[in-house]
Formats: sequence, C-alpha cells, structure tokens
Amino acid sequence: MLIDGERILAVGPVAEVRATADAASRSGSGGDTRSVTTLDARQCLILPGFVNPHWHEGLARRAQALGMPLSDHADPVSPFARGGDIHALSQNFDALYSWHEKMTPQESEAFARYALWAQLRSGTTTVGDVGSVAWPEALVGAARTVGLRAALSVWASDALCLPGETAFTRTRDADAVLARIEEQLLACGADGTGRIRGMPSAVYTANLSDELAEGIVALALRHDTPVATHLGALPNESGVVREYFGRTPVRRFAELGLLTDRLIAVHCAYADLEEWAMLRGARVHISHSPAKYGLSGESTISGSRMIVESWRAGQRVSLSTDGEAQQIGGMPEAMRQAWLGHNEIWADNTAVRPSDALLMATRFAADGLRWSDQIGSLEPGKLADLVLIDTDDWRYTLCARPLEIFLKVGGSADVDTVIVGGEVLVRGGRPTRFEEEQVTADFVTAAYALAKRQGWPVDRPSGARTHA
Ligand SMILES: [Zn+2]
Repeated sequence: MLIDGERILAVGPVAEVRATADAASRSGSGGDTRSVTTLDARQCLILPGFVNPHWHEGLARRAQALGMPLSDHADPVSPFARGGDIHALSQNFDALYSWHEKMTPQESEAFARYALWAQLRSGTTTVGDVGSVAWPEALVGAARTVGLRAALSVWASDALCLPGETAFTRTRDADAVLARIEEQLLACGADGTGRIRGMPSAVYTANLSDELAEGIVALALRHDTPVATHLGALPNESGVVREYFGRTPVRRFAELGLLTDRLIAVHCAYADLEEWAMLRGARVHISHSPAKYGLSGESTISGSRMIVESWRAGQRVSLSTDGEAQQIGGMPEAMRQAWLGHNEIWADNTAVRPSDALLMATRFAADGLRWSDQIGSLEPGKLADLVLIDTDDWRYTLCARPLEIFLKVGGSADVDTVIVGGEVLVRGGRPTRFEEEQVTADFVTAAYALAKRQGWPVDRPSGARTHA
C-alpha cells in the first residue's frame, strides 16, 4: 500500500505499488522521496480502520461504580433486561441530560480523552456519537487530542414516561435542547482538522417530544448530517411509546420526518411487519451492538430475526459498540459476536460470515455515517485509515484465513498499529501523540475527584488498577 499525505495512492502486489511510487516520484506528485516512511506489515492483517457509528462518552459514570463489590452475585436485573423497563429507562436517560454539570470541563475532557483512546486502541478510526454526557466543548477537544475521526453529538432528551401515567412529561424546553445541539454542530463545523463532524441525535423514542424530533430533522437537513437514535430496541418499547405519545415509535418517526436514509436506527430489532416495510422503504440504516447485549440482558439478536432478514434483503446494517460506564467491547468483539451469534440463532454458518462482519464494521458503518465516499475501505483515493493486526504467533500457524482466527481467538488487545489519514496514531499498541500514562492518570484523578464530591463510595477490590 502506498499512502501519499492523508490518502491511499495504490494498493496491490508490491511490484505494482512500487511502480506507482516510482511514477509518482518522477512526476513529483508523490512528494519528496526523502521523506518516505516504510512500515513493514509482513505477518500482519491489514484492515480498513473500524467505523463505530454508535458510541457514547459516559465514562464519568464509572466513578459512580468505584465501590462496586468484587462479587457479581447480588447484581440486580438491569432495566434493559427481560423486555425492558421503559419507564425506568426513560427516567434514567432523561437524568443524563444534565449529568455533565457534576464535573468540571477539565474533568470531562479527561474522561472523554480516555474513552476515545480506548476506541482508538481497539482499532476504531471513526466514532459516531449517539449522545454523550460530556461537556460538548470537552468532547470536541478530546477528539482533537486523540486524533480519530468523530461525528459528535450531545445527549438530547426533553421528555420522559412516568409510571402510572398515560401521557409523557415534558422535562425541558425543546428549543433549549436544540440550541445546545446546534452549538455543538457549529463547533464541529469550525474544526479545521477535517476529522470532526457533527451528528444530531435523540437518545430514545421514549424521551423526545414532537417538537424536539422535528427540530432535529431540521438541523440534520440544514447541516447536511446523518441523524441517530435508539429505535425498536426493546420488546416493551412499542406499547409504552404508543400509550404515552399516541403512535408506535416507527409510525411516529415517519410522521415527524425522521424516517429517512439519514437515520441511523440503533438496535432496531423490534417492529411489526408494516413498520419493518416502512424502515426498509425509507432506507433507514440499522446499527446493532451484539457484544453489548449480554451485558445488559437484551435479546436483540435472538428476540427477532429482523436484523439478519434486513441484511439479507439488502438493507444497510452495521456493527457498533454502544457505550456504558464500564469498559465495553471494541469493534473486534462486536464482529465476533455478530458472526457467531447470528449463525447460532439461524443454525446457518453462512448467515453472517467473518467477511460480512468486517463489512458491517467498516464500509457499511461508514455508509451509515454518510462518510463512505472517504473512508471504510482500502482503495486508491480514499483516506488512509487502517489497522494492522500482528498475526506472527501460535494462533495463526497453518491458517489460510487470518481474519477468522483474529475474530475467533483474537480481539481488541491484538491491534498493533492504527493509522488515521496517513498519520500513525498507535504503534505497538501505544499512542504516538500523547503519553498514555498521563491520559490514564488524568482519568483516574478525575474519577476520584468526582466520586469524592458526589459522596460516592470509592472502595475498590484489591488488585484492581486504580492508580496510574
Ligand atoms: Zn446506545
């Protein structure tokens, strides 16, 4: 592969790439040959950088869990589990709108830097934010420091569904939420690196008024961005939303102008047949996060066959990590679970092949973010975003398909090198732009400071990594 500046110039057999390099050097278009850097990627898998269109910055919430017991035996049932407690979720989600006020902008940036570093470290070169609890400007600053591509958002909610009632409760002025989203869009638009974009999002179908939904559509059109929300995520969602908002989520979105090919519908697995046809007809992008569902007790893969049916019908489907307070799997783990999980449900080893999982984690995901003209595949003319996986060890001996082995017995920790726009950001698993120890120490310090101010317990199981 030959990279000139931030773009791929040639990909192919060494002789062909060398010929392109020589021609570029002669014509002067390849730049100064004295500044050529060569990375030896023999014994490496060379993959397009992973594109993660559904992520949240919420690492500050890990401070709340510092006193978590070592034993998991007394863990409660999650509100996402057993079909979903939509009333509890809508209250939790609405409370997150003002969560950033618990921390200083500096602490928020420390959390966001560590969260984005964890993504980059696991091979993600582009994230799509479906609502973060960070201070918006802190998130932009952190993305700039870490250097990966990001379509950033704010946590948007102006309503909730209280138990025992029949209509939603408005929690804040839709215009105030829209103003904050637009402020973030303008900050992203003003970024000169070319790596940061804005993406208006709504957190959940049970958390937005008609006014907020229509305003978000207007912002997406005005700024020419995708728009994202969690939709059709849980079996109990449709009934509650119909009761509190008058229509089921998909029909409501159709009426409000949200059901278009700009929409990234996250987890979208539960819809009736008519809604399913509406989603397909509108060319809505579906992104699912299979490595996350077991953690929260969601049945997104097994509960309906809609995601693979959609994939088979040619609908655009991608993979993503989602986000939570604790460390979450990276894109390699999402690929593994998509490959093995869907095939198990379908009793069919061809339902989602390893190469299909890779497509869902790269080109199709870039398509959802409306960025596939620039990223998502390794082709001449595209931006040089790539990941090198070292395959020179026992696992790959006499193996014809290294991608399969990487997904089966490898994972995020095996990412060796990450390149974004021709710039090497990770080499040998270590960041090149900043000191990893400093970013870790800032995160740990911010977590303890936040926990102390909030009065949260800070006991940790012995042996856990609490200090840098
Ligand atoms: Zn999410």
